[in-house]
Amino acid sequence: MAMLIDGKAISAQIKEELKKETALLAEEGRHVCLAVVQVGGDPASSIYVGNKKKACDQVGIESLSYELEEQTSEAELLSLIDRLNRDDKVNGILVQLPLPGHINEDAVIRAIHPDKDVDGFHPESVGRLCIGEKGFVPCTPAGIIQMLKRSGIEIEGKECVVVGRSNIVGKPMAMLLLRENGTVTVAHSRTKQLREVTKRADILVAAVGKPKFITAEYIKEGAVVVDVGIHRNENNKLCGDVDFDGVKEKAAAITPVPGGVGPMTIAMLMSNCVEAARK
Ligand code: NDP
Repeated sequence: MAMLIDGKAISAQIKEELKKETALLAEEGRHVCLAVVQVGGDPASSIYVGNKKKACDQVGIESLSYELEEQTSEAELLSLIDRLNRDDKVNGILVQLPLPGHINEDAVIRAIHPDKDVDGFHPESVGRLCIGEKGFVPCTPAGIIQMLKRSGIEIEGKECVVVGRSNIVGKPMAMLLLRENGTVTVAHSRTKQLREVTKRADILVAAVGKPKFITAEYIKEGAVVVDVGIHRNENNKLCGDVDFDGVKEKAAAITPVPGGVGPMTIAMLMSNCVEAARK
């Protein structure tokens, strides 16, 4: 039976550390402030935004809310971002994705000043990550690295397989594992013999976006399995990209859903905000 990697507990620990840091910064007269922008009322986005604002409260970060109507034009949104970029009080800007179809997400991501890009999606942040310079790292993969390190799981020299190559999870995950000296393979929908590839993994990260896709047959005995997926099953319960019940019997360590990668993502967003304020 696999060791359970408790993302909830690790994220609580990180938030406690950050709370102390924000208190120290406040003593120096520096207050951490995150602007959270949501366009439209997508229920899932509203839950994510609510959780992020709650985490800000816990850590001592001020959150400014901008809840814009679904019909907001791209120009109006860009103008708000421009104002927030120039506002010295604001350290970080988060625009909740996805945006309504009439708004170009890439243009919005590029409009956020790289110094306030706490999501780490701006091309400058992505470039810095690729060439090994300091910069903001996307929160989900950054959280996974923290979770592995704080669970005593070594990455150096390990065979790491990432299933998924999205800009927000798969690609930055691969870059971070490489930075930690893992030997990294990125698999995707065109990968042939996927099972043979995933079975090589000492560390397997599943970011496929398909419920319970990774079953025990995809796993090497004793592997560490990180499940990024979030889905609701037929009983409206949360589940991941990994078939937890089957895989836990074969893996050495596994992250649960909920209580694994999700809470870590928010903790790393808070960490990026504190870093933005320190700059
Ligand atoms: P995307 O849909 O953007 O990417 C999915 C990736 O999986 C693609 O690269 C795709 O390949 C690959 N893929 C799809 N089908 C297969 C297949 N049959 N075999 C191999 N690879 C396949 O998803 P995201 O990266 O944005 O998110 C992945 C999951 O993680 C989702 O469930 C999402 O909800 C969740 N998530 C969770 C977060 C958290 O905080 N816990 C944060 C962000 C996401 P191709 O490129 O070839 O199409």
